[in-house]
Order: sequence, then structure tokens, then C-alpha cells
Amino acid sequence: LKRNVKSFCKRNGLLTLSVIAVATGCMLGFMLRGTQMSTQAKIYFSFPGELLMRMLKMLILPLITSSLMSGLSSMESKACCRMGVLTVTYYLWTTFIAVVVGIVLVVIIKPGVGTEVESNRLGGGPVMTSADALLDLIRNMVPSNLIEATFQQYKTDLVPVLKVPSRTIQPNFVYVIPDDRDTKGRTVYLELTPAPEVVYRISPGSSQQMNVLGIVVFSATMGLLLGRMGERGLPLINVCQCINECVMKIINAAVWYFPFGIIFLVAGKILDMQDPSTLGRKLGWYGITVLAGLFVHGLILLPLFYFLLTRKNPFSYIRGLLQAMVIALATSSSSATLPITMKCLLENCCVERQIARFVLPVGATINMDGTALYEAVAAIFIAQVNDYELDFGQLITISITATAASIGAAGIPQAGLVTMVIVLTSVGLPPDDITLIVAIDWILDRFRTMINVLGDALAAGIIAHLCRKDFPLGGAGQSVPSYGT
Ligand code: ASP
Repeated sequence: LKRNVKSFCKRNGLLTLSVIAVATGCMLGFMLRGTQMSTQAKIYFSFPGELLMRMLKMLILPLITSSLMSGLSSMESKACCRMGVLTVTYYLWTTFIAVVVGIVLVVIIKPGVGTEVESNRLGGGPVMTSADALLDLIRNMVPSNLIEATFQQYKTDLVPVLKVPSRTIQPNFVYVIPDDRDTKGRTVYLELTPAPEVVYRISPGSSQQMNVLGIVVFSATMGLLLGRMGERGLPLINVCQCINECVMKIINAAVWYFPFGIIFLVAGKILDMQDPSTLGRKLGWYGITVLAGLFVHGLILLPLFYFLLTRKNPFSYIRGLLQAMVIALATSSSSATLPITMKCLLENCCVERQIARFVLPVGATINMDGTALYEAVAAIFIAQVNDYELDFGQLITISITATAASIGAAGIPQAGLVTMVIVLTSVGLPPDDITLIVAIDWILDRFRTMINVLGDALAAGIIAHLCRKDFPLGGAGQSVPSYGT
């Protein structure tokens, strides 16, 4: 066994280093929690991790645009259409299944029944509806300004949804001062050092993140059209292919920095974590329910679908994705993990380039099985805490809105927490009760992001298999998978 482990570590050097980095980051974070580190010291300490996030985010834009434009330009219209329809259908189906798994588990385990978890409810009514979320999703598909789309997600308005005590403020959300009189909708990014009593409003669906969906739609359209322009389209196609190759080379070099960055990313997050002693026992059961659901969906159902549809061993495929899953665990962002997922699919899983270039970026924006499952569990948990009986019709409503809310969530840390407002309001639950689950959300977010990434990657393998007649060359020109990265 020792020899096997040794040879696995040798062949998978980077993966081994990344796993060690996560463990080291956890230990370091817990060790340093005892020390009274100043905010300034924490910023310096977290700097290598911040750099890692910046590197990953830097690669998203060139990767998505060049992948989609060069990938789709070389495909027949009929093949594109088939791949598009299969991808979207598969994504919707698996997301819905994830929601059903979550609902079944939370109804059986009942983590919130008889709970005495103290609510931070502060009043204030729901404002964001499912229709608003749907409109925002469609707006994001059609960015009015492409340059703007690369740095800021579009949002309707500064709609106040819920009030949150400052101690629950999360660094990746946009917070808006309650009486912000700026009618143009300018958001205000706050330092995370407010007085404890101050109350802020969160603007739903907004984040300091690029509009990936809009960029995906634009690049896919450009790719399709370029392919139909014949000779005239070739120069741009060549440019896109060059950019794509360069980006992949940058990723190959940057990955060696990742283990170092991961240590500080994870440790920094643990330093910022709220004191676990404030968590109620029932909240622990809620966490276990979400994790059990993610386990069932990610490691039983999705591999089963993969096996049934491809007749191949799903676990040897998943083995090639471990590096991407560790990065998802460390970053909590499926968009930031996209470059590594792409690398794993092309190098380790031998998925056809054109398929990976389409299925992954689309999946990173609309396919979030883990998020959908978590939203359904969280909504029903909140209903149980409130002693609120949900009838069968309301469970169906939750399953549909959780699917929609996960599609609308961006691939960034804790985006699901914000879009959950839609699920709660759809069945008349108080949206400010999100504060009940905020304390452990940062950790659940890491695991649901892993399942989001896994779902996208398995989908690429399945679509590649189903469309194999359209791509007779097979995967990425490689016949032998090489798991060592
Ligand atoms: N962090 C998740 C992702 O990036 C989204 C969420 O569930 O909050 O996929």
C-alpha cells in the first residue's frame, strides 16, 4: 500500500501538493485563530491567497471568449444545435434531480424541527421575486455594454431585500447603505469593519463579478457566425486559437503557484470564520443534511448517469478531475476554477476540445447542482425552524424556484445565499431568516462548489460521448490519459 501511495503521489505531484496545501491551510488557520491578529496583519497574511484568486479570475475572460469562438467556429450548424440542446437539457435535468435529492433528505432528517436556534430576524419584507430573477438572467444574457460586462454584473436596481446584522456580512457581496440616495443605482462597497449594531441591506443578484453569462452568449454567437464566413473569418479564428493556446500555457505555468496560494487562501478564511460555538446543534444537522445530499448526488447519482449514458467507468473519469475539485474547495468559485477544469478535461479526461470549450463555460454559468440542492434544503430547514408546514404544492414550488435560483446564481463564493431569497419568498418564508444559516455557509459553499464543478465536467464527458459521431477524431488528440499534472 505504501508503495502504491508513493507512486500515486509521484504521478500526481501537483494534486498531492494541493491536498497538502488545503490541510496545511486548515491547520495554520486554526492555530492562528487563537492569536489576536490585527485586520492589517490578516490582509498581509491572506495576500498570497488573494493573488491566487486574481490569477484565476484573470484567465476567465480570455479563456471563455477564445474557447467558445474557436470551438464553435469549426463546427457544423447541425452538430452545434444538437450539442446545445443536449447540454441544456442535461443540465436542467440533473439540477432538478439534485433539488429532489435535497428535498427528500431534509424532509426525512428534519434538521430544523423543534429547533431553538435564535433568529436574527429584523423585519422588512421580500422585494425580489422569481420574475425579477428571471428578468435579470435574461438581461445578463444580453449585455448592453460588452466592456462593462467584463467587470460588473448587470442588475435591475438597488432593491433592498433583507437586513443583516453587520457580523454576518460576507466579503463577496455588495452591501448598500440603507438610505443610499443615489438613484442611479451606484453600489457602495464597504469596509468590513462596521459597528455591530449597524444594519445594511443586501442588493440581490449583484456582485463585483463579470457577467460571464453575457460573455458566453456573445462569444458563442460570434463563434457560430465566424464558422459560416468562410475564408474571411479565418484570421479571427486563428487569433482566437492562438489566444486559447497561450491561456492554456499560462494555466500550466500558474498551477505550480496554486499550492502555495491555497495555504493562505484557506488559512485566511478560517481566521475570518465566525466562532463555531454560536452554532446550534440543529444547524449542525442542517449542515450534515446538505453534505449528505451533495455526497449522494455527486458521488452516486451523477456517476450513475455517466455510467448509464456512456457505459464507461465514472470514477476513473473523476480521478482526472481531482485537481479541479481541490481548487473548487479552496476558492469556492466555479468560475474561478474554470481554467483548471478545462485543463483537467483536456489533459486527463481526453474530452473532445470543441465539446469542452462549449459545455464547460455554459455549465459554469448555468449548471449548479450543488447550489440548487443546498437552496432547497436551506429553504425547508428555515420552514421547519419557523414551524411552518409546507404542503406538497409548496415543495414543488421550492423545487422549481431552487432550480431557477441556481441557474441565476453566479459562479462566485456564496452567490447561492443571495439567490435563495427567491426560493424563500416563493413559499412565503421570511427572507431575513437567511441569517440563520449564514454562519456555516462559507464551509458548505466549498463543498457545493465542488459538486457544481463535478457536474459540469461529467456533463462534458457525457455530451462528448453522445455527440461522438459529430466529432470522429475523439478527445483532444490524446489517446493515453495522463493524470499527473
Ligand atoms: N460558490 C458557488 C459556485 O461558485 C455558487 C454558490 O452556491 O454560492 O459555484
